Amino acid sequence: MSSPIRYMLRAARPEAHLFAVQCTVAVPDPNGQMLALPAWIPGSYMIREFAKNIVSIRAAAGRRVIPLEKLDKHTWRAAPVNGPLTISIEVFAHDNSVRGAFLDTTRGFLNGTCVFLRVLGQEDQPCEIEFDAPSGARGRSWRLVTSMTAARTDKRGFGAYRASDYDELIDHPVEMGTPTIATFRACGVPHTIAITGRHDTDIARLVKDARRVCETQIRFFGEPAPMDRYVFFVNAVPTGYGGLEHRASTALICGRNDLPRAGMTEPTEAYRTFLGLVSHEYFHTWNVKRIKPAAFTPYDLDRENYTTLLWAFEGLTSYYDDLLLARAGLISRKDYLTTLARNITSLLRNPGRQRQTIAESSYDAWTKYYRQDENTPNAVVSYYLKGSLVGLCLDLEIRARTNHRKSLDDVMLALWTQYGRSGIGVAENGIEQAVASATGLKLGSFFASTVHGTDELPLARALKGVGVQMKARPARSATDRGGVASGAETVPPHRMIWLGMRTSTEGTDLKITHVLEGSPAQAAGLAAGDVLIAIDGLKVDGKTLDETVQRLAIGERVVVHAFRRDELRRCTLMPIGAPADTCELSLPTTRNRAYDRWLGGAQ
Ligand code: ZN
Repeated sequence: MSSPIRYMLRAARPEAHLFAVQCTVAVPDPNGQMLALPAWIPGSYMIREFAKNIVSIRAAAGRRVIPLEKLDKHTWRAAPVNGPLTISIEVFAHDNSVRGAFLDTTRGFLNGTCVFLRVLGQEDQPCEIEFDAPSGARGRSWRLVTSMTAARTDKRGFGAYRASDYDELIDHPVEMGTPTIATFRACGVPHTIAITGRHDTDIARLVKDARRVCETQIRFFGEPAPMDRYVFFVNAVPTGYGGLEHRASTALICGRNDLPRAGMTEPTEAYRTFLGLVSHEYFHTWNVKRIKPAAFTPYDLDRENYTTLLWAFEGLTSYYDDLLLARAGLISRKDYLTTLARNITSLLRNPGRQRQTIAESSYDAWTKYYRQDENTPNAVVSYYLKGSLVGLCLDLEIRARTNHRKSLDDVMLALWTQYGRSGIGVAENGIEQAVASATGLKLGSFFASTVHGTDELPLARALKGVGVQMKARPARSATDRGGVASGAETVPPHRMIWLGMRTSTEGTDLKITHVLEGSPAQAAGLAAGDVLIAIDGLKVDGKTLDETVQRLAIGERVVVHAFRRDELRRCTLMPIGAPADTCELSLPTTRNRAYDRWLGGAQ
């Protein structure tokens, strides 16, 4: 029997950042209805304890107050009642990220995981949601944007919505306020871009480019698109970067200068990065929102959900985000390969790749990748970064072994057909099996080495198959992250000095943030948290560090002074030459069909 769960949400006190939310259960559990708020939000693999922001909770049946017992950090049980039970909560909402809930006098944004109580045992019931505008003049100017299915709304979008179950309810974020709205259709599907925060975006440019991203991806997986509508929520802030995927929307945060401005002809690097984010989150509409690990079908919202497959859901998505921009002609091939080279450099500079596999990194995302500390570069490999480069190697391996008749594209389509369309979860060995069934190749040793091992990736060999030469060389400057060889590089007269530490400036302090495994800084006894004072008797700060270091000589000991807590320490450091950790790619000089087929449309 269907008995909808009814929710009512009001931006009750914007000045106090409080949403008021009611949840009415028509047929509560006769033994006492239990209710809970999720401990985490799907897509962001960290326990966030959203219930900590509930500042008041009470239960009633009609006018009668019903006692509530708290069972753990996020679960309550109401005393047994006959007939409808209403739980009212106030939720503090002052998290301006894509994962939380926010309300002030200018806008509101919410993820359902922060505000909608889960009615235990009735998660499959349909939900009816009423969104009320704030009262007064403010309320009249606000509008509401969401990808949730509207049932009965006013012109501004406030009113009644519905979701077929709790899982759907919490997968449609809601923006309210006065965002800039743009709309377009991609392959017939209506899309909305809602930009909040001060910005001066060239909307026509953004719409044109976003549409191209969307159409490229819908056609990649095959029409029709799996969603009836789609919303890009864009929160423009001074500086920021991130996104969270949902089944028919994504919440993005970016620097306002990352967005295109009137008069821009060639995309800036910041805008290319923003388009990469748009492409990444949109690709998730298929890969992770519909093709899902079995461990996520269904999600267990009370605790960590473990899978070794985040490398496939985040890494392969990261591989395709920029690749599809290149195929769509939104970035040039040279720009694509420059980004690729810099990604390879990042991996080569990450000692953690020799400690942790991407399967382990996926599994331990909750405690390692999402909770980074001073030892992260030494102990953790990113399943995004290395996962994307495993995707590259896998794609090029399939192309090489099938004489370019098959590619990773065929694997993604097979995953979509087998798992995405059916809603069946991908087993922990399902990616390897999908590769075998889509291409006929048995790549057991490839997976053992790249996914379940810490061997260096066969990048140079893979790229050679599409005519791209890869070289790893020492950095030429402190800011050198590699790229595409121009043929006219100036090589510095001396080899760069490498100490193997990362620093940041805090006030006037130059603080060591990371000391890399096997580095001269580690051998000297320097530690994260130390404040550098002088190297070789010369005062150093954020501006002078690089030139002071580059004046040292390889193999000649120098004295370093640093504060550890408030104690001045003196240590001896032996500089070495920079390792060959910088990737340079050379593009084919003659027409190469394998290269053209890999990068598709763009030239
Ligand atoms: Zn992602």
